[in-house]
Amino acid sequence: MTEFEYAPALESTSILNLQSDYNLFINGKYVPAKTGKRFPTINPATGEAIANVAYADLADVNAAVAAARTAYQKVWSKMPAAERGKYLFRIARILQERAREFAVLETLDNGKPIRESRDTDIPLAAAHFFYHAGWADKLDYAGLGANPKAHGVVGQIIPWNFPMLMLAWKVAPALAAGNTVVLKPAETTPLTALLFAEVCQQAGLPAGVVNIVTGDGVTGTHIVSHPGVDKIAFTGSTGVGKAIARAVAATKKSVTLELGGKAANIVYDDAAIDEAVEGIVNGIFFNQGHVCCAGSRLLVQENIQDEVIEKLKRRMALIRVGNPLDKNTDLGAINSAEQLSRITELTSTGDAEGAERWSAPCDLPSKGYWYAPTIFTGVSQTHRIAREEIFGPVLSVLTFRTPAEAIEKANNTPYGLSAGIWSEKGSKVLWTANKLRAGVIWTNTFNKFDPASPFGGYKESGWGREGGRHGLAAYLKGGKN
Ligand code: NAD
Repeated sequence: MTEFEYAPALESTSILNLQSDYNLFINGKYVPAKTGKRFPTINPATGEAIANVAYADLADVNAAVAAARTAYQKVWSKMPAAERGKYLFRIARILQERAREFAVLETLDNGKPIRESRDTDIPLAAAHFFYHAGWADKLDYAGLGANPKAHGVVGQIIPWNFPMLMLAWKVAPALAAGNTVVLKPAETTPLTALLFAEVCQQAGLPAGVVNIVTGDGVTGTHIVSHPGVDKIAFTGSTGVGKAIARAVAATKKSVTLELGGKAANIVYDDAAIDEAVEGIVNGIFFNQGHVCCAGSRLLVQENIQDEVIEKLKRRMALIRVGNPLDKNTDLGAINSAEQLSRITELTSTGDAEGAERWSAPCDLPSKGYWYAPTIFTGVSQTHRIAREEIFGPVLSVLTFRTPAEAIEKANNTPYGLSAGIWSEKGSKVLWTANKLRAGVIWTNTFNKFDPASPFGGYKESGWGREGGRHGLAAYLKGGKN
């Protein structure tokens, strides 16, 4: 097959005002950590440090929670709801105005292709603020009856795969509902959250309404166990989610958890195969497969397996892997050395347990963290690569003969976040969707997101929903006059 050669189309980083050191954002100001400790944030495409970021310890978390409490009591809870909404609209518009800056910074710190940060992450983040701005003065319709109340101070902890988008999923509904926030971005991707703090200043958001503390899991535990925090919202791994559930179990804190997934992408033999192949590629190779709802288990009907796999391999060979800042790049860098070694370790069990590996032929850059798009065929339910979340550009292929077998296999997982169904028969799609234990189900498409649509899982994929009315309600409690 001929492949067009593209000239490099590098996005410039000159729009960024990068600093060598970044501080915490507490009570409307950038402040150094009280211990003075810092840690580097790395560009995963080169392995080189971009900047040093302040490490928040207990004393810093205490200061952030105190600022959020004061802002809640004195300003934010007293402000007319429509006024709160205006701040959210303002933030949304500034995000749109500064979208290019955010996209470049996200790509630099995370390793995802600029095409995705530019066309997906940042526009969706702005959309979440627009959507929730509209809710701020309509909380009576959130499903909790008249006059629902905010929780107060919300602690929010987010992962590295969609740093700015996860921030928006957390901060926008929290503020619309009238809470104030202490947010901790992931240790490998803190920069867009710190740039967002600048947007809060630019929007004139009252001091202390949003506080950003950077650090690692220990910083996260300080937020979770803080007695001044009324609600915890967490997105990350199931292991940490369980630890958080244990930590808040004997408290009055309310909690929402968005955790891992191992989604089945089911392709029936009556599906439009070329479209299904595009959907399979989008389902597992979008964002290097660092996607909680990734279609990481392909369940293909046995009689079309050969055709689907052949077309899939041909399509995978066209995926352009390389510099995330190049606008032609489809698959960027793996977010960190740790994540790369996790992917390498888990995929080696695929080889050891007898699955057959195929990787797209591509030249991986010599510096940074990279993994070629890969599929394993001949995978069975007992293989670790069929059960555990790889969180990388790796697809496990299983087969089924009957729809009942597809359902059985799809639901045979501790997770239940998302699923995909490919079929031309509407009745079959509805029958399948009804039987799948997954929070989000796409049909003849994959990885589509909208702020109005609730997102969340069953079983070990988490508690509660984010987005839509259901996600908003999690930031409220029933109230009286
Ligand atoms: P992680 O759980 O290791 O880290 C997530 C965040 O939690 C980070 O900010 C980290 O510093 C913090 N943290 C770590 N230990 C903590 C502790 N004991 N207490 C409090 N905070 C702690 O997860 P990760 O590896 O960064 O992210 C990948 C995982 O996130 C995957 O499993 C993925 O499926 C999941 N994820 C889920 C969703 C969803 O919406 N369901 C979205 C994105 C990612």
